[in-house]
Amino acid sequence: MKKITLLFTLMISINLCVGQVIDVHLHSYTDDIYHGGHPHPAGNIPSPPTAEAHLDRTIELMDSLNIDYAVISNSIKANEKWMEADDRFIPGYGANTEMIPVDEFEELIKNGKIKVFGEIGSSYEGVTLANPIYKPYLEICNKYGLPVMYHTGPPNPGSKSKAKRVFKGDPALIEDVIATYPDLKICLQHAGASFWENAVLLMAYYPNVYADLGVLLWVSPLTQEMAVDFLKRCKKYGILKKVMFGSDQMVWPESIKISINYLNSLDFLTEEEKRMILYENARKFLGLMD
Ligand SMILES: [Zn+2]
Repeated sequence: MKKITLLFTLMISINLCVGQVIDVHLHSYTDDIYHGGHPHPAGNIPSPPTAEAHLDRTIELMDSLNIDYAVISNSIKANEKWMEADDRFIPGYGANTEMIPVDEFEELIKNGKIKVFGEIGSSYEGVTLANPIYKPYLEICNKYGLPVMYHTGPPNPGSKSKAKRVFKGDPALIEDVIATYPDLKICLQHAGASFWENAVLLMAYYPNVYADLGVLLWVSPLTQEMAVDFLKRCKKYGILKKVMFGSDQMVWPESIKISINYLNSLDFLTEEEKRMILYENARKFLGLMD
């Protein structure tokens, strides 16, 4: 009996990580912007000592976890470095309020060096995506059908920015942008976090609004509780088809695995729903359909 239980447990734990995955929320690094090398307090998650080791470990995990694609963002240089190392990376242009000129932005889209606009972390600078500075960039995204990925929820409290504001992370504040561009696909990253109910409402009301689970699945028991509440409400509203897996591992690659396993452990989701979240929904959002 014990043997059978052991075998069954083994099958489940193998199963936890073998389905195809798309991680829509990673960050790329070069040495000058890498801030790892110290474990994350949540479960003492290790962080590789250098940008190089971090990239290597991320690729190793992508292989073992069956991750077909991953959206990365940070500087253009960091993205280029990662894309040279592995062709599964999809480049996002990470921005707060300081951005490259609009014509350069458009040129990089034409050259395939930007395929997603985001992560946009405007709440770190105390503004939202509805700020007029983003309008010309959104117009271009709309023109080229480029998906937009926007940080929602409070900014990371560890950020040194004095301009950061908790309530600028409420997705309700960007409703005008969502309504102005009905064909522009917008992902509310971290699923609104503390503002998850507003994220659900926007997703239910507007066809162009999606969400990723971001850090919710691994960063603390509180965020995991938000993820569960958010997912249950999405299931009730019939909008799980717009929820995507994104780990936002930052400098802690092991959190990708922790997040996938946590999602797979949620028994109120069917296997099909888990597959949608881990893979299918992102294919649609990113335009990777055959
Ligand atoms: Zn992020």
